[in-house]
Amino acid sequence: MTTTTPFGTEIRALPCSAKAFERARQLIPGGVNSPVRAFHGVGGTPVFFDRASGAHFTDLDGNQYLDYVLSWGPMILGHAHPEVTEAVIEAARNGTSFGAPTSGETALAERIVALVPGVEQVRLVSSGTEATMSALRLARAATGRNRIIKFAGCYHGHADLLLVQAGSGVATFGLPDSPGVPPGATADTLVAPFNDLAAVEALLTSYPEQVAAIIVEPIAGNMGMVLPEDGFLAGLRQLTSQHGALLIFDEVMTGFRVALGGASAWSGVTADIVTLGKVVGGGFPLAAYAGPESIMRHVAPVGAMYQGGTLSGNPVATAAGRATLDILTRPGLFDRIVALTERLIDGIDDAARGADVPIQTAKAGAMGGFFMNPDPVRNYEDARRSDLAAYARVFHGLLKRGVYVAPSQFELVFLSAAHTADDVDATIAAFSASFAELAHA
Ligand SMILES: *Cc1c(COP(=O)(O)O)cnc(C)c1O
Repeated sequence: MTTTTPFGTEIRALPCSAKAFERARQLIPGGVNSPVRAFHGVGGTPVFFDRASGAHFTDLDGNQYLDYVLSWGPMILGHAHPEVTEAVIEAARNGTSFGAPTSGETALAERIVALVPGVEQVRLVSSGTEATMSALRLARAATGRNRIIKFAGCYHGHADLLLVQAGSGVATFGLPDSPGVPPGATADTLVAPFNDLAAVEALLTSYPEQVAAIIVEPIAGNMGMVLPEDGFLAGLRQLTSQHGALLIFDEVMTGFRVALGGASAWSGVTADIVTLGKVVGGGFPLAAYAGPESIMRHVAPVGAMYQGGTLSGNPVATAAGRATLDILTRPGLFDRIVALTERLIDGIDDAARGADVPIQTAKAGAMGGFFMNPDPVRNYEDARRSDLAAYARVFHGLLKRGVYVAPSQFELVFLSAAHTADDVDATIAAFSASFAELAHA
């Protein structure tokens, strides 16, 4: 195996990844266990990871990359952080699953309650999908209503009732996005465009006393990064309160990332139920839904709303989550990730301007993104007008220079505590070169 350094020799071929992918495709649908990993958004062979440390990972062919995907967000401290690794090993030595309560779960809940505004109680689950699904069940149980409102382009995991987007920007009944989701499963799901309070109000008045909850990514991160406009989140808070519906912030991505207290702290708007995932599990399958006791008391065994899980609150996962939050909240550490995120996103903006390539950038806390799009992006319709072919070429320009960004235009750029200012500056240089190739083609 030859080893190339990031920004040194260009990476031209990935024979070991290609071979591994070929074998994987025989045994796993599309060779992947989550579709976006297959590189359909950008073309080419997915890079097979061999190992990772800090801000870097090494692929099967021995090439090194700077990682700006970070497992789609969770690895906010960087890969294989020594203290998290120690905590995980120690937990594993003491038994990996009990199906009985442990103090480690309470200790993680304590940290979540301390950080996230409005949260008094926490239920731990194993994935973001499970968290949002359970949060909606809870909202329905607490209100005795069935309908929910979501926003086009917001992703809340793959539960049937949430696999819906809007048709052509008009608020409408949701039709399933995927075969296998019966129309009945989404019949109570209403869809509005992101950043459109008037559409939300129209739905709430068309279905009086029928809407259990509005679920929103408070800062959208699954259609690329789209910021809420001034007053949007406060408006949702006001409309839900007025109409007796609950407000759910899906903070699976934004939690502990746009601020230590998530988007609730970032925006000053407190939701009724918050879902958490990604960072909170420190790289393990762990997620949560949480809220005030007055709502959480509907959850069994206190209340009648059933939800459970064999591996929920898993001791290894909770150890990773606790260690991650403890390190993340050390003085100055989070602010440094935010500063690096700003440095990178501003640098990408300048690099594009320098190459005369029109892009849109967005940043909030340690979350950032860019669209290959000449026009402002305020909702999914706008996001979909981005130049996907240009994104694919920028992606491959970066990849061959040892910079790994998401293999899709509709994802974000994530930084970690392990990235350095030098890493970021080298990355901006790689962006400049990739944008220049685009402009001169
Ligand atoms: C990733 C994500 C989910 C789904 O989480 P999984 O752990 O992949 O099931 C839900 N909501 C948001 C906002 C996410 O970013």
